[in-house]
Amino acid sequence: MIPNRKLLVLPGDGIGPEVMHEVGRVVSWMQKRERARFTIVEDLVGGAAIDARGTPITDETIRLAKEADAVLFGSVGGPKWDALGFDKRPELAILRLRKDLGLFANLRPATVLDPLVDASTLKPDVVRGLDIMIVRESTGGIYFGEPRGVETLPDGTKRGINTEVYTTPEIERVARVAFELAQKRQKRLCSVEKANVMESGLLWRQTVAALAKDYPDVALSHMYADNCAMQLVRNPRQFDVIVTSNLFGDLLSDLASMLTGSLGMLPSATLGAVGADGRRHALYEPIHGSAPDIAGKGIANPLAQMLSFAMLLRYSLDMEEDAALIERACVNVLASGLRTADVMAPGCAKVGTQVMGEAVVRELEKLAA
Ligand code: NAD
Repeated sequence: MIPNRKLLVLPGDGIGPEVMHEVGRVVSWMQKRERARFTIVEDLVGGAAIDARGTPITDETIRLAKEADAVLFGSVGGPKWDALGFDKRPELAILRLRKDLGLFANLRPATVLDPLVDASTLKPDVVRGLDIMIVRESTGGIYFGEPRGVETLPDGTKRGINTEVYTTPEIERVARVAFELAQKRQKRLCSVEKANVMESGLLWRQTVAALAKDYPDVALSHMYADNCAMQLVRNPRQFDVIVTSNLFGDLLSDLASMLTGSLGMLPSATLGAVGADGRRHALYEPIHGSAPDIAGKGIANPLAQMLSFAMLLRYSLDMEEDAALIERACVNVLASGLRTADVMAPGCAKVGTQVMGEAVVRELEKLAA
């Protein structure tokens, strides 16, 4: 008997609904082939929810997210809502989901698919076969630490303050996610901080080092964040899994994503703690935004959203075989020469969102035959 999985799908704004529609084809194919059964609830978030309900996300949507086995998110935001205050903006939807579901470990793969090796700004020899997973702590550190703010000093000058704060449980839980990922990959973990100049970085290093005894099969190394930025450009293939703080992860994961050449190709996941019932809240989304410049034109690349769904199958539903099948189908379609405009190359055929989505499903059908 195939288990029934509950998914909350939140397409959002701009190209979000367009690329999510293509994931719908994959879901339908999986159900038709009886590879899985899904109960899918779809809801509004971001600007779409502001327009319909006056708020970027409702309490009811949060309840649905908590109830689901996983959340598949599109993207939110756009010029229409840019003038709203910080307390009303579409982006609050994703911030609230992260906070209310306790999603603390952001997983950003940087993978160079063979057919796209020329899309990187780095030389093909440097990035060919690249497969890095960056685990960024996403609910602590300097973006949330207290004290924070801007104060006026007695002499009239101003002082801006943000504080990098980490406790050992915060470091341990994200490091465990990273160790466990490394165990399933090439068994190498690099912990990144600035232990040379920051006390919180020293605590980070000591805490991760102390955990290593629980994962004897993983080779742990430590690196300063500035060196890591340099190494990611010099020789990125030296890395398997990287674990780091919110601030350094923000910078390093953006840097790593550009090694791969296109925003339209990159998925991500954000995981929470495993609850008493053995379930882990998790949200999956492409790293790109709502791309208002191309929304409604039918030309967005749907692969990042499809690959986010593959991550969901792998990490939330333990469906490795199906995840790998979708990933392989995406690679094969690119290798066959079909490209959306963002990854177009000489000699390839330019196609739109829908043709790309249909081609992936045709390839799935072939691979599964
Ligand atoms: P963006 O990622 O939306 O777009 C950057 C550039 O990449 C654009 O030229 C866009 O056309 C292109 N692009 C992005 N995804 C693509 C795809 N799938 N296929 C082809 N081309 C693609 O970033 P932005 O322009 O800085 O932001 C636009 C809006 O998205 C803003 O309102 C921003 O706040 C929001 N945003 C939301 C999220 C999220 O929902 N998690 C993340 C980033 C930005």
